[in-house]
Amino acid sequence: MRERIYRTEALILRRSDLGEADRLMLLATPGGKRRVLARGIRKTTSKLAGHLELFTRAGLLLAIGRTFDIVTQSEIRDSHTTLRAELPRLSCAYYAAELYDRFSEEDDEHPELYAVLAQTFAALDRSANPDLALRWYELRLLHLTGYRPQLHRCVVCQDLLTETASRFSPTLGGVLCPQHEDADRAAMTMSGPAFRLLRYLQSQPLTVIEGLRLSPEVRSEAESLLRAYLRRLLERDLRSVAFLDEVLRIE
Ligand SMILES: [Zn+2]
Repeated sequence: MRERIYRTEALILRRSDLGEADRLMLLATPGGKRRVLARGIRKTTSKLAGHLELFTRAGLLLAIGRTFDIVTQSEIRDSHTTLRAELPRLSCAYYAAELYDRFSEEDDEHPELYAVLAQTFAALDRSANPDLALRWYELRLLHLTGYRPQLHRCVVCQDLLTETASRFSPTLGGVLCPQHEDADRAAMTMSGPAFRLLRYLQSQPLTVIEGLRLSPEVRSEAESLLRAYLRRLLERDLRSVAFLDEVLRIE
């Protein structure tokens, strides 16, 4: 039998008002995505108020409910105040949250995916290059959910790729060797520096990625390649992408 009450860490991904004073929240937790209810949170006297702001990382005590589990206590672990105060960072967080939502199922335990999202929010809160943190996040998420793009062997013949490879196929999910460039007529042209960056993003920790110095051209090319692949997987654009385009300009 499940415990009536349990503790978890969580990132608050979405909130919507319910009734007079309650709020429904979508959480990312190590135990998976979860919808929970915060009762009375919109009353000024609520002990929960202020603890459960969007994109905060919090420790929660929850009671099992019939439809939704109910937040009974909370403590802030990281309120990510910079992230929430600056629109470009905020738009990145909306995008990261939406990707998590689209690639995960409710109550599907995935502590690594949670850890990657938590690391990404922390980076979006402090990093000088939020776009690189997002690219790293996209590749980690794709890896952890079984959609890792193939960047080291040709997606058609499985031969090891050299740096001369210059075509990326969102449909086939990876890079084409020079012999198989025509396997996908819709494959995208990819420059050498963008190819190196994608491989680097796939293999290096976030702390290393954050310190990279790259031209705006290479960064936006990597963004286009990954976005095309994600769009192919999700079969349509994410809602937050338009918002992101409007407020985040790579300088
Ligand atoms: Zn090939």
